[in-house]
Amino acid sequence: MTADKVLLATGAYTDGAFPWFRRRIVPVGSFIIATRPLTVEEIARTVPGNRTYVNSRNIGNYFRLSPDNRLIFGGRARFSGRSDQQSDAKSGKILRAAMAEVFPHLADIQIDYCWGGLVDMTADRYPRAGEADGLYFSMGYSGHGAQLATHMGEIMADLITGRINRNPWDGLPWTAVPFHTGKPWFLPLVGQYYKFLDLIR
Ligand SMILES: Cc1cc2nc3c(=O)[nH]c(=O)nc-3n(C[C@H](O)[C@H](O)[C@H](O)COP(=O)(O)OP(=O)(O)OC[C@H]3O[C@@H](n4cnc5c(N)ncnc54)[C@H](O)[C@@H]3O)c2cc1C
Repeated sequence: MTADKVLLATGAYTDGAFPWFRRRIVPVGSFIIATRPLTVEEIARTVPGNRTYVNSRNIGNYFRLSPDNRLIFGGRARFSGRSDQQSDAKSGKILRAAMAEVFPHLADIQIDYCWGGLVDMTADRYPRAGEADGLYFSMGYSGHGAQLATHMGEIMADLITGRINRNPWDGLPWTAVPFHTGKPWFLPLVGQYYKFLDLIR
């Protein structure tokens, strides 16, 4: 296949064929568990007002009810650069313990679902988009790309076809993560560091 212009939007899954980008993106696992549907009493005790919540820890959690009243509880769980069934199940156990800490009355509740994936972290957690290494690119959403990546798709289409440049990250410098050669060997250390910060706060 040949193309005049190529947009790289492969986020955390950008592979070794693109070393310039690999040195700037750190793929980190992110995971979610979903309980069995909660009873009316459990809902009143757990999420009164049915809001969406996020806590302020470094290795934080977020949670809300699903439309069928399951508690969806997510977080980084552990700093893993992998997301496969084994890794997701391990993280599910950690999330379950975190959920039990916040909601002791749900400690033994049945977990019906557990899943995970990789998010594309940048050093400053700002996305980047533009042109580099002969490619257009838009990535680095750092775990917040659900809406933004879709929006950036439209912006990049305008940019690539020469209609208008509305790229909010235009010209933002993007240096490689120090000592990052493409494989995030330092993730366990970073995880321990953030765990320590959460302990002493
Ligand atoms: C458990 C979890 C919970 C999350 N929760 C939220 C949330 O609540 N809010 C939020 O905003 N974000 C959330 N995110 C992050 C959000 O999913 C990402 O920021 C977003 O999906 C990034 O979009 P993207 O299109 O850039 O990349 P992705 O959705 O990662 O898509 C990249 C695609 O590129 C493909 N690809 C890779 N290499 C190649 C190749 N060589 N050829 C062809 N295709 C290739 C991959 O298969 C993949 O489909 C969550 C992520 C996870 C894992």
